[in-house]
Amino acid sequence: MHAQIQFIAQLAEIDEQMDEFHQELGDLPGEVKDAEKKLRQKNSLVEETQTLLDELLDFRAKSGHMLEDLKTKEAKYAQQQFQVRNNREFDAITNEIENIRKERESINEKLRTSTIKEDNLRLILTQQQKDYEEVKSILDEKESQLKELSGSHSEEIRNLIHRRTELTTTIQPNILEEYERIRTFHTDAAVKVRRNCCSGCFSAVPPQKLVEMRTKLDLIFTCEHCGRILITDGM
Ligand SMILES: [Zn+2]
Repeated sequence: MHAQIQFIAQLAEIDEQMDEFHQELGDLPGEVKDAEKKLRQKNSLVEETQTLLDELLDFRAKSGHMLEDLKTKEAKYAQQQFQVRNNREFDAITNEIENIRKERESINEKLRTSTIKEDNLRLILTQQQKDYEEVKSILDEKESQLKELSGSHSEEIRNLIHRRTELTTTIQPNILEEYERIRTFHTDAAVKVRRNCCSGCFSAVPPQKLVEMRTKLDLIFTCEHCGRILITDGM
């Protein structure tokens, strides 16, 4: 005889095992996702600082050449100053020379502060790389934990899902629906009767109901106090 209550008892057992598995995983999948996001943020900080540092070093490498060019230009203009034909031309050249000097000054100023800037950037970069490595090792650990847990249970979980799917096709739809409805507020939707009591809320089950339960196995009886489905003792 395949009684509906027997199927429900099996279903409750499977769900309990699946719940246990999910509890074991806990927040791990979410924590992995968070750590991945954090790692991306840390990485972009490292990249930003690295870009600033590269630009600074690039400027320094090119500055000698730039200053040399400006010097040549300035000398050329200085030479031209002796060959002007009027005041307007003289003023124009003087203006050019003034601009070149300002540019040279600005490059020299940038060069003077570049060492301190470089030191600061390197300090920041070291700290940011350290932060990145810290998050990376946390992520690695969580990922391997998750992999280990999922891996060791994957066979079991596949079996449970398979058995659950089979069961749900044998259980009457209205009974399954009732079970799922109760599951939304009691994770243990179907519980055994122990010593004539509901083992979900420990309320006594009326004797008349106990008798009916043993004889009408295709009917579903629920606890009058908590609403859980009751599974006959000794099933
Ligand atoms: Zn109860």
